[in-house]
Amino acid sequence: MKHDVDVIVIGGGHAGCEAAHAAARLGAETILVTYDSQKIGEMSCNPAIGGLGKGHLVREIDAMDGIMGRAADYAGIQFRLLNRRKGPAVQGPRAQADRARYRFAIQSMITDQPGLRVLDGEVVDLKFTGDQVSGVVLADGSEINAKAIVLTTGTFLGGIIHIGDTSWPGGRFGEEASTRLADRMAALGLPLGRLKTGTPPRLDGRTINWDCLDMQPGDDDPVQFSFLSREVVAPQISCGITHTNSATHEIIEKNLERSAMYGGHIDGTGPRYCPSIEDKIVRFKDKSSHQVFLEPESLSDDVIYPNGISTSLPADVQEDYVHTIRGLERAKILQPGYAIEYDYIDPRALTATLALRAAPGLYLAGQINGTTGYEEAAAQGLLAGLNAALAAQGRDGLHMPRSESYIGVMVDDLIVKGVSEPYRMFTSRAEYRLSLRADNADQRLTPLGMDLGCVGVERATAFRAKSDALDAGRAQLAAREVSPNEAEKFGISLNKDGRRRSGYELLSHPEIGFPDITRIWPDLKDIDEPVREQLSRDALYASYVARQNADILALKREEGLHIPPSMTFSDIPGISNEVASKLEAARPETLGQAGRIEGITPAALTLILARIRLQSARRA
Ligand code: FAD
Repeated sequence: MKHDVDVIVIGGGHAGCEAAHAAARLGAETILVTYDSQKIGEMSCNPAIGGLGKGHLVREIDAMDGIMGRAADYAGIQFRLLNRRKGPAVQGPRAQADRARYRFAIQSMITDQPGLRVLDGEVVDLKFTGDQVSGVVLADGSEINAKAIVLTTGTFLGGIIHIGDTSWPGGRFGEEASTRLADRMAALGLPLGRLKTGTPPRLDGRTINWDCLDMQPGDDDPVQFSFLSREVVAPQISCGITHTNSATHEIIEKNLERSAMYGGHIDGTGPRYCPSIEDKIVRFKDKSSHQVFLEPESLSDDVIYPNGISTSLPADVQEDYVHTIRGLERAKILQPGYAIEYDYIDPRALTATLALRAAPGLYLAGQINGTTGYEEAAAQGLLAGLNAALAAQGRDGLHMPRSESYIGVMVDDLIVKGVSEPYRMFTSRAEYRLSLRADNADQRLTPLGMDLGCVGVERATAFRAKSDALDAGRAQLAAREVSPNEAEKFGISLNKDGRRRSGYELLSHPEIGFPDITRIWPDLKDIDEPVREQLSRDALYASYVARQNADILALKREEGLHIPPSMTFSDIPGISNEVASKLEAARPETLGQAGRIEGITPAALTLILARIRLQSARRA
């Protein structure tokens, strides 16, 4: 068959853009087909990128030379490092983004990428050659053939919008749903399910009484996403903070039956971690107030996103309850809040490359795989786009293990456990989170991207320079030693064990920082500030990471280790009841078999390994 292009990406949302750009970076001739190219890079819901766990994903995308981080830095109008007071492993970079600037940045990068073309159109069917997916059919009857296809339909596949008891097919407010393709996916016998999500009403900022509200500025020292960004480019703004109150709750409670969700109009399951205001009031009955952040959506208009009151109540009820909230008494609603229900495909039907097992050549990414969130979508898009290009080039697929990236954690969770509600990333999902930090994503993944060929010259050059500086700084620190008595002369108190410690070892103490180090060795002042910060973070976690790496290696080595048939799992400290009952039911014979059971994490395997060793030590 003649191929028109190497890779077709269907959908210009966060997954599709990242997929198309990644495939083209690998040298695959790529076409991105989407309903409306002007909507490329649209943020369907909240105007923000990053957050806990999500910020890690953005950094990992960036480390592989993806586009989300750079676009978010260009569009960022308020940067905040979440969990700033906690350790670097759980800190999450977040930026509130100007929607128009974000779209502009993404569209520019898509347009500027050699080997990537954009086509406005609706894909209504897939073409097959035998089992193999070989092309797409557009609504105008035209066809495009390709070696591999990435499908990223987001909330559009079979999308239905709900406001109160009114509903209509739609992919986002004012946009068509992908109904014909949804029918074809169902006819192909793919394992489809329904999920839902919701968004709050949008307000006219000119009608908000800002004077009576608390304002929250961004951080004084903004932390950006991209390893290539140097300074903040957009003017920075503050957000308003207000709260729901008993009058708000009373109106919502009285009208619960009129909410699309509580009136029984929606079957799909919603995101537990982004509940609607109806959900919050039902689930947290004892809370008399909920916080609402009033986030400007752009520097160039007055649209305000009231973060915290997503809803599927009828428009008149939305109007009533919004007006009970302090500062919003006269607020004009520009667009009502709504819920959307859409088709997803059970991600257990996918391989670790995000290929659909039943249809070779077809890769899925984003909301279609049961996730929620721009960052989750983009991270899958990156992996699916790279794999589609690799397949088109006849190269081996890319697997990202969960021990090496949050992307790997998410993909493993999806394909092994599936989803029962929209999946979002958290740092707690990563058992190796001490080494999978946002700050070291480039050190973890840029070399992989360089080997694959998806990292451009600018990033490769910057990465090599940074790595050389880190290596040099680490070597300088390792070469200096100090005894506890000598350190005391500089006001640094160490355990008086007489052991000499290197500069790097000193930095592993949370209370010792570079200013202490340079008091002892003033010549180390030459080390640049960003390098100092990175070395301090690396040193802080070095011993934990070494232990973690030893665990990972031990698990790999011990795959064939026999699990005694008499072993009980429920009494192993740290193993949850859920994991224990899965193990009891499956009775794996080896550690490798245990690892392949759905939901058994590497952390659980490490605990089983420790138990086997303990039992054999007792028997010896
Ligand atoms: P999308 O961004 O939806 O992009 C899909 C793209 O595919 C679009 O460009 C569309 O035009 C195109 N497309 C679809 N079908 C076809 C076709 N047949 N032919 C051609 N093009 C096609 N996320 C959160 O994290 N928290 C929330 O609270 C939240 N609430 C949301 C509320 C609403 C109402 C909506 C709509 C989304 C919400 N989201 C939320 C989800 C967030 O928007 C998505 O997670 C994210 O946009 C998914 O990215 P994606 O690339 O998978 O899909």
